[in-house]
Amino acid sequence: MLEAVETRGLVLFNRDFREQDMLVKILTEQAGKRMFFVKRVRSSHLLPLVQPLSVATLMTKINDSGLSYIDDYQDIKTYPKIQEDIFKLSYATYVAALADASLDDNQADPALFAFLEKTLDLMEEGLDYEVLTNIFEVQVLSRFGVGINMHECVFCHRVGQPFDYSFRYSGVLCPQHYHEDERRSHLDPNVPYLIDRFQAIQFSELESISLSDSMKRKLRLFIDQLYDDYVGLHLKPKKFIDSLQDWGALLQKHEE
Ligand SMILES: [Zn+2]
Repeated sequence: MLEAVETRGLVLFNRDFREQDMLVKILTEQAGKRMFFVKRVRSSHLLPLVQPLSVATLMTKINDSGLSYIDDYQDIKTYPKIQEDIFKLSYATYVAALADASLDDNQADPALFAFLEKTLDLMEEGLDYEVLTNIFEVQVLSRFGVGINMHECVFCHRVGQPFDYSFRYSGVLCPQHYHEDERRSHLDPNVPYLIDRFQAIQFSELESISLSDSMKRKLRLFIDQLYDDYVGLHLKPKKFIDSLQDWGALLQKHEE
């Protein structure tokens, strides 16, 4: 059965279908992730919409048991600054893929939609896309069923200590309890401190965050460990980012 729904939507990806048609996966605010069928896309008024990461208000026909349809759209946003920068684009693509992976089909999650859109808005505005990506990764962990406590020692519950992380206890250890896990992570204490902040950060606070490259590398490594250990995702856009890091290092050397 088709139901007329007006909703914000963000294009996750598209793929060609038959000769001239296209299937477009969209994260909608009101109806969750849906696959839309766009007929004769190249001559369609929907052509500007189907590019990944486009956001618009959609007039849709939502089908509960198959492909859905788009009648029209308005207020389109295409993130030109993200699209023209391969680094930004690869991080934005990864964040969208993460949102996609964290949500079951047809499951509405307006909070996730708003969070993803805001993250892309801030990347477009020029805020640090690596830090924005880390914050998104940390906050979306709970949607994969992962709750980690970076706030208080798992043994004595003290807060505000130079913590280290223990995968054995799935939480942080204070200096008095480091010895409880001889295979603790030996992190820079700023890493669990920042992840604790990221779990509850407000977007208004983001502009005040500025991290050194070495701190960003430490965060990247540890968040990768968290995802490897607790989530076990292997998203293609993430592999691309990992390969870009090597390119980035090369480019920087060239510029110096
Ligand atoms: Zn303790």
